[in-house]
Amino acid sequence: MIRWLALLAAACVFDAAAVELQPIKVSERVYYVQGKPGVASGENEGFNSNAGWVITGDGVVVIDALGTPALGDALVKAIRSVTTQPIRRVILTHYHADHFYGLKALKDAGADVWAHRAALEYFDSGEAQRRLEQRARDLFPWVDDKTVLVRADRWLDGDASFEMGGLRFEVTYMGPAHSPEDVIVSVPQEGVVFSGDILFAGRIPFVGEADSKRWLARIDQLLAQSPRLMVTGHGRVSSDPAKDLALTRDYLQYLRTTMGKAVEDLSPFDEAYAATDWSRFAKLPAFDAANRINAYGTYLLMERELLKR
Ligand SMILES: [Zn+2]
Repeated sequence: MIRWLALLAAACVFDAAAVELQPIKVSERVYYVQGKPGVASGENEGFNSNAGWVITGDGVVVIDALGTPALGDALVKAIRSVTTQPIRRVILTHYHADHFYGLKALKDAGADVWAHRAALEYFDSGEAQRRLEQRARDLFPWVDDKTVLVRADRWLDGDASFEMGGLRFEVTYMGPAHSPEDVIVSVPQEGVVFSGDILFAGRIPFVGEADSKRWLARIDQLLAQSPRLMVTGHGRVSSDPAKDLALTRDYLQYLRTTMGKAVEDLSPFDEAYAATDWSRFAKLPAFDAANRINAYGTYLLMERELLKR
């Protein structure tokens, strides 16, 4: 009965067709839609990540697919509002729930899906299904048990490149960093790089169990390319990535320094966490939701790194 009432209440406010996304022009042939700050919630309708697209002379290449089926539909509409070119390909920067639950709409529109094969473990281990069950609770009715988890049509073994309609695309494998399967997508003729979650703008990144040592090395590798414009997985497009996106790097370094010291001093995690000065980051979006998990993941990582020394 309570479940039924909850469904009814949700149905009253749920109108998937009402989701509308505003395309933002990045360069001559590149657009993106910008998710809201913070973590995915019912309040922001699961719209907390970015997706971008490149209009070639022979079809559209999309980077990432947003975090709900309704957002996937809205993304297709947003693309259609600026071009009549067919949607040919989607490249996923990584298989996290906030970046791929909208895939089905893009696939139905005719796209083939590319991602790195390290994401197969996410499906094979059952993690993808467990995550969907959690998401269906947290983001219902935007995500429910009927949400389709679309797998890639082509699993990449490493880097890849291709040409479409006069534009060259370079897909570079960056994992394991934020996730095992991270890739970035560069479109050199447009001076644009899509960094996925290797770099975040304006919010605390989700670190969890990520390998922050490798992640920091990847950030350096990415910034060394000196892209003119960078579209990140979260936050606004940057025309000065080294400056605008210093936060991700600073934050990862701070986690490693403070938690690394705690491990060396044999301080228990709870004590170390309480004693750490978080004031530099505490006012940023997603801090409350992510910081403790990030610190704990880093604490365990620093223990493992210490044992390997
Ligand atoms: Zn993300």
